Amino acid sequence: DPAVDGILVQLPLPGQIDAQAVIQAIDPDKDVDGFHPVNAGRLATGSEGFVPCTPLGCLMLLKSIHPSLSGMDAVVVGRSNIVGKPMAQLLLGESCTVTVAHSRTRNLAEVVGRADIVVAAVGVPGLVKGEWIKPGASVIDVGINRTETGLVGDVEYDAAAERAGAITPVPGGVGPMTIAVLLRNTLVSAGRREGVAIDQTAL
Ligand code: NAD
Repeated sequence: DPAVDGILVQLPLPGQIDAQAVIQAIDPDKDVDGFHPVNAGRLATGSEGFVPCTPLGCLMLLKSIHPSLSGMDAVVVGRSNIVGKPMAQLLLGESCTVTVAHSRTRNLAEVVGRADIVVAAVGVPGLVKGEWIKPGASVIDVGINRTETGLVGDVEYDAAAERAGAITPVPGGVGPMTIAVLLRNTLVSAGRREGVAIDQTAL
């Protein structure tokens, strides 16, 4: 339908539906969530495409604090296709030295402790302890965990905030940024499809 500029599949899908088959049915040039393998390949090779909304929003938050990330040590905790892997690609594209930690990583405290940038995308409440954070580091908490005391992230916020140079709260941090980037990607898609130049640096 040429009247449609952007399509996203709200994941997770019910178990009997193959999510990859559904994602691959989307036109990569309308894939505003950036999950189609063509867009994953474009991101990996530095070509123009669509970048997944959550990690792109995280990068924008980081660049609002550090206009250049070049040479910084970045640790991404989590290796999902939705957040961890594209986040690592984006940080590599900004010339960070990137470490991807995951459920089999040994001594996570030590790995996180050397990072100038920490992105936590795990789904375990308070997994990243405040005392692990290098003083002055920028901490992006992607986690959304429903607990008896309400919504919390993957980072022990209060303790981490005492050491971090900058930190995102949960709720009210990465979540709203993700929605904003989804709208941004849809606008970019409309511009590309209509042949209208959009200054992406201004978005
Ligand atoms: P996922 O379950 O697909 O991946 C979790 C990752 O965490 C895995 O790669 C796993 O190896 C790693 N992990 C698990 N236990 C670990 C441990 N003890 N130590 C280190 N790493 C460990 O999850 P996802 O889809 O990437 O989402 C992660 C979190 O981010 C969830 O809480 C999700 O709700 C949230 N999320 C938020 C947004 C947003 O808009 N704010 C968007 C996407 C995901």
